[in-house]
Amino acid sequence: MKAWESNIRKVTPYVPGEQPRQSNVIKLNTNENPYPPSPEVAKALRAMTTGTMRKYPAPDAQPLVGEIASFYHLKPEQVFAGVGSDDVLAMCFLTFFNSDRPILFPDITYSFYDVWAELFRIPYERIPLDEAFRIRPQDYFRENGGVIFPNPNAPTGELLAPGTVEEIVSHNRDVIVIADEAYIDFGGESVLDLTDRYDNLLVVQTFSKSRSMAGMRIGYAMGNRELIAYLNDVKYSFNSYTMNEAALTLGTAAVRDRAYFEETTARIIRTREEAKKRLAELGFLVGDSKANFLFVTHRTCPAKEIFETLKKAGIYVRYWDKPRISNYLRITVGTDEEMERLYAFLETFLAAHAACD
Ligand SMILES: *Cc1c(COP(=O)(O)O)cnc(C)c1O
Repeated sequence: MKAWESNIRKVTPYVPGEQPRQSNVIKLNTNENPYPPSPEVAKALRAMTTGTMRKYPAPDAQPLVGEIASFYHLKPEQVFAGVGSDDVLAMCFLTFFNSDRPILFPDITYSFYDVWAELFRIPYERIPLDEAFRIRPQDYFRENGGVIFPNPNAPTGELLAPGTVEEIVSHNRDVIVIADEAYIDFGGESVLDLTDRYDNLLVVQTFSKSRSMAGMRIGYAMGNRELIAYLNDVKYSFNSYTMNEAALTLGTAAVRDRAYFEETTARIIRTREEAKKRLAELGFLVGDSKANFLFVTHRTCPAKEIFETLKKAGIYVRYWDKPRISNYLRITVGTDEEMERLYAFLETFLAAHAACD
């Protein structure tokens, strides 16, 4: 070992889903939206010029922050924007989780949480989901340094009702509770309204899923102005210009097109509900997901085998060789055409494999 090695911050990084470069794959592995962004985004893109690149972008992320605020009937001081919700959540960990007590999150959840906790040296504890992969609110009624969970949870898709989230928030008034609502627009009810009554609640959302803009990297946090001010202090101590000019302009155009947003999320919800039926007919046990993905296990065929076979056929889904979920697949909801090709392939494959029928 070299002398300087002991001074290196060693981390085990987050592993993102594969991004195959071939264009003929059916990509159902990273929860991207199968539809393009709003046509208003394309229009705004065509209107952009390189002249704006000469200058630094707005450090306060306007006009995007103002547009998000008006969409959700908030004041701009209640909105913080960042480079995808991954950036926003990392800032939140740095800003709000500074206790010697462990922060709490589910054992089966978004796999970035433990990576940030390790990176920032925040003590943490994973709270097991129940047998049905649901969060038990009472498990979070104890001393801790903060709480974070996705709602709906990932990769399970299980949604907590606002009243259940409120139970967790009200039992944790002395720490910050973060509801990561990356998938809330696919049929869930946001707890944003609760931020009026609970100053310790922060709601984080993203443009990556319901607004079809994963590649632009836009995420945001909403809550009372004090929490947002603390987040901004940390951001300005780190990098004032996290969001580039194109993201600010194109994100603003996306938020303005409410009709397109509502139409495409409704379409994904319809495809998801159909997928629950079709996959069940193929012998899968399908959880009641309220997200743009399904978490499934097959009655007889091992998940790993299905995963590998699908991949060879150019159909990418997500599989984790991890405790409790190593026999599950997470399948992102694609277009109806993509899903039909998935069902057709699975039907043939499962019929041909004696061990898997
Ligand atoms: C996708 C996702 C995010 C992050 O998305 P960004 O692309 O960084 O905005 C955060 N939390 C959960 C649970 C997610 O699934």
